[in-house]
Amino acid sequence: MSLRLYDTLSRTPQNVNTGNQSVKIYCCGPTVYRDAHVGNLRTFLLADLVRRVLELTGNKVELVQNITDVGHMSEDFQEQDKMLLQASQEKTDPFLIARKYEEKFHRDLSRLNVIPADMYPRASESITLMHEIISKLLASNNAYVGTDNCVYFDSQSFDSYGAISGNRLESLKPGHRYEFVEQGAKKFHADWALWKSAGNRQEMIWDSPWGPGFPGWHIECSAMSLHYLGERIDVHIGGIDLRFPHHENERAQSNVIVSKESVALWLHGEHLLFEGRKMSKSSHNVVLLEDVIARGFDPLALRLCFLENRYRSQMDLTWAAIEAANTTLTRWRNKIAQWNKSEITSDEEFLRIIENDLDTPKVIQYLRAIEKDESNSDRATIFLYADKVLGLNLDKQEAEKTLSQSQSDLLQQRDLARNEKRWSDSDELRKQLEASGLTISDTSDGQKWSWN
Ligand code: AMP
Ligand code: ZN
Repeated sequence: MSLRLYDTLSRTPQNVNTGNQSVKIYCCGPTVYRDAHVGNLRTFLLADLVRRVLELTGNKVELVQNITDVGHMSEDFQEQDKMLLQASQEKTDPFLIARKYEEKFHRDLSRLNVIPADMYPRASESITLMHEIISKLLASNNAYVGTDNCVYFDSQSFDSYGAISGNRLESLKPGHRYEFVEQGAKKFHADWALWKSAGNRQEMIWDSPWGPGFPGWHIECSAMSLHYLGERIDVHIGGIDLRFPHHENERAQSNVIVSKESVALWLHGEHLLFEGRKMSKSSHNVVLLEDVIARGFDPLALRLCFLENRYRSQMDLTWAAIEAANTTLTRWRNKIAQWNKSEITSDEEFLRIIENDLDTPKVIQYLRAIEKDESNSDRATIFLYADKVLGLNLDKQEAEKTLSQSQSDLLQQRDLARNEKRWSDSDELRKQLEASGLTISDTSDGQKWSWN
């Protein structure tokens, strides 16, 4: 067997290409203007699962995940750069915002036991790469400079536009929201900007052969994926909302550059809902990993919750589900600590289930049955083998730990510093506490701590 995943383009499960030196995976990364919510984290976990299954079965994986720190516009008719909007709200430099949320993104991934990607290229540091491919698209007449000095991709020049999402050009009527902005500068309503002219914008702009400006979001991923992974990308991953227009546009750009199908398999994770509704700021139901920790749950309980649902089904998360997963996790760890350990080899049944399009709910069912089977002397072995993909730290000992005197003192000092609004002291104390093995979260009821 080898790993099969559901390919959005062909609408069928496909074998992942494993015939080359390494399997090349590109996962669209976060836009770092705010904390990633647990929905975003579900999508990032998908890349980790694919990677872990491939590595467990002896493949080398190269995974690149970009950091979008410029050019991702707000989805309202004003179309403003999300980074600049947030920077003006926080009254600070957009690059400071970007680095702050990028660091938090890495911290969240590490708490969720996601193996770091091999590279996290930043859009703002890949501008020359983008200029190069925009120039190529202009030279091949797949792009043009509009009357507003922006460079646009000519969507009608790419025959199979719409194949991923099923949105054919004929059905993309004018009047689409992007229409308002360019005011007729585009030749065709479905064309999109590769390079946007700076206009009045002062920050996050670069010189270019077409004048000062900034890149469009879609060209970023084409430039970074082709440069860092090369002309063959085996799996390209993102949330379902990226199918259109982001991946559709990316495919058109990249295919033109490499003169063939640039991506072998398009993998999309379905959305996470929270308590029945789409997670969004306007619904006031955004949940962060920090909130999960602040309620005293192991962040890996969230990982287990995600695994209890298939990646391509919409999933409704609740606090009760996280609590139940937390209980299961503790019970499994305690039992595994007591069960007899044999040498870890492979488990064909587990591989059969997981390689079938990452059927993690079935894996969990399988493990629950193994757990109950008193006659099975390989229970710990099977669980620990599966954990190489599940990533739940099932071999972690649940020893009772108590705070040391110095940790208690530091917590008290930090409480005081926060009450007296001495923020830099409180930041310094947080660093010391975290270095000592604690995770600190600030909530409306004051600071909370847990063990890392
Ligand atoms: P962003 O930081 O907004 O660029 O999104 C990062 C990733 O999270 C993208 O792959 C999105 O498709 C994905 N995403 C956004 N919302 C959700 C959600 N509610 N559930 C799962 N994935 C999501
Ligand atoms: Zn992307």
